[in-house]
Amino acid sequence: MNSTEQPTSFLDYQEFFFDAIVIGAGGAGMRAALALQQDGHQVAMVSKVFPTRSHTVAAQGGINAALANVSDDQWQWHMYDTIKGSDYLGDQDAIEFMCQEASHIVRELEHFGVPFSRLENGKIYQRAFGGQSQNYGESQAKRTCAAADRTGHAILHSLYQQNIAAGTEMFDEHFALDLIQDEQDRVCGVLIQDLQNSKLKVIWAQHTLLATGGAGQIFRTNSNASINTGDGLGMAQRIGVPLQDMEFWQFHPTGVAGKGMLISEATRGEGGILRNAENEPFMIKYAPKVKELASRDVVARAIAIEVEEGRGCGANKDYVLLDLTHLPTDVIENRLPGIRDICLTFLGLDPIDKPIPVFPTCHYMMGGIPTNINGQVIQPDIAIDKNLHGTTIEPQKTISGLYAIGECACVSVHGANRLGGNSLLDIVVFGRQAARHISAQLQQNSIPFSRPQQHTLSHLLERYQRWLTAEPETANTQDNVNAIKQAMQKTMEQGCSVFRDHTRMQQTVDALQAIEERFAKVSIADQSQIFNFERTSALELENLLSVAKATACSALARTESRGAHTRIDHNERDDQDWLKHSLYYPQQDTVLYKPVNMQPKQHAPFIPQKRVY
Ligand SMILES: Cc1cc2nc3c(=O)[nH]c(=O)nc-3n(C[C@H](O)[C@H](O)[C@H](O)COP(=O)(O)OP(=O)(O)OC[C@H]3O[C@@H](n4cnc5c(N)ncnc54)[C@H](O)[C@@H]3O)c2cc1C
Repeated sequence: MNSTEQPTSFLDYQEFFFDAIVIGAGGAGMRAALALQQDGHQVAMVSKVFPTRSHTVAAQGGINAALANVSDDQWQWHMYDTIKGSDYLGDQDAIEFMCQEASHIVRELEHFGVPFSRLENGKIYQRAFGGQSQNYGESQAKRTCAAADRTGHAILHSLYQQNIAAGTEMFDEHFALDLIQDEQDRVCGVLIQDLQNSKLKVIWAQHTLLATGGAGQIFRTNSNASINTGDGLGMAQRIGVPLQDMEFWQFHPTGVAGKGMLISEATRGEGGILRNAENEPFMIKYAPKVKELASRDVVARAIAIEVEEGRGCGANKDYVLLDLTHLPTDVIENRLPGIRDICLTFLGLDPIDKPIPVFPTCHYMMGGIPTNINGQVIQPDIAIDKNLHGTTIEPQKTISGLYAIGECACVSVHGANRLGGNSLLDIVVFGRQAARHISAQLQQNSIPFSRPQQHTLSHLLERYQRWLTAEPETANTQDNVNAIKQAMQKTMEQGCSVFRDHTRMQQTVDALQAIEERFAKVSIADQSQIFNFERTSALELENLLSVAKATACSALARTESRGAHTRIDHNERDDQDWLKHSLYYPQQDTVLYKPVNMQPKQHAPFIPQKRVY
């Protein structure tokens, strides 16, 4: 790395040169940075928070791999379950690749130091999660490898230690503002801000990898960290990248009622039962075979229906109960200690004695920045067929120098609904794969990278400059960033949560338009330079608004029910017209489509079937 001061007309910034930039230090970013650094490349890893505060740290239940330590298992069964769970919208080539890699990547994590829970025989402990089966749907499998109920914490800390050992250069508490392109539209760097003192920096590199995580903050009730604001998606959209499958948001069935924080699926994997106000274990009505272990979209809908039909618990009849009281105390103490902590801290109850009040909470973004298996960002041509029904594979145009991995990316292995335990797997598998691809490129082209003569930096600085002036003449000083964020979260919850229909979604699209107009006029009052949270929130809100808009517009356009997208006015899945990925193009404000990949490389393709649980 070397750096220089570079004055501009109105803003100064410092320059840095690296082989590759990784934006994000969650599980995806850390795995990628580690692989690149170990291959001898110079990597800058940027994170707006201290790396081990990334949302991966909150992952509870575990990571899937067909290790067959507890029940007989094969990667092919894992592949079948993932495709079925995705409601057939997942790309079968990518799913096949992920499931094949799973056992190896989990053993690799073990060697990095992840303290997995153990069986008596010393092998990695595996628990049952929803949608897992043996022999293509026959009986329940136990596939989720866990470190008690703090698996993400264990993985993230081990990867952090490995990165420290490898010497990865970290830009902690630095906020990435925008991607920089050269005159050939290649991504050649990123503009970042040091949050500690507001200084601007530019990192130049041949390859930039987005690993910025999810955007659950578009909804009021969610299980996500407050930093999950879709910044990578906003940055990608601003350079014209469409977002894929944004109508598909997972509502986790068991969030703490009224608060949203997560009660892991591991509780049901260990034997927890969902009950309504009549004490009835109601899942038997919705999924007679697997009951509580149906996939998440099915369980979330079942809870919402129980409440809507008046069988909810409490004074307002607005939640159901997750009952663990019949489980042996040592299971709760040893396998679910984090869940017990959450209940004691936020609800003042001990799940050993009392059931937990739960209701669906926004949890995970299935859509994101479209990529291929190597993590390269793809930008299908805008002239793509608007009513595409076929299943042939289009040649995919990639954006030179830009990659995306982890929750911000849509590769797409989760399709319309993600299975529990598959995201931690996705982030490490594709983190490593993207790094391998970048490494190969860097090795082939060993000429040191230099800053391009022509690039987009000056207009990015102009965009940012807006937040450096308090109350410009045009600004509405009565309004503020936080009020606008709350308005966005409210309208998203009204129009785009578990159940959707045309009227409510249209109202949300219209409301977002008005909210965008408010945002265009707002200014910030705080002009301090030390950890200016108001300015950071404004920058995050701009990204959140673009994610919310992509979500509402894609959801309104899809006139069927599939996976997590449940429309009461179109309640059937429609493979004839809708077995295709959505692509929301922000500049054109339009949704186009591309086919689902139904051509795995080794296994025979899985033909869409009705999902029965
Ligand atoms: C409560 C909870 C429990 C979960 N449990 C499980 C589970 O048991 N199993 C499972 O498979 N999945 C689980 N998931 C999902 C899974 O944890 C996430 O999808 C995954 O960890 C995301 O990893 P990531 O690396 O893509 O992003 P993250 O871990 O969210 O990291 C994002 C990174 O990007 C950085 N960043 C973002 N924007 C900027 C910016 N503008 N500038 C600089 N840096 C930026 C952040 O600082 C952070 O370092 C859970 C999710 C939640 C919320």
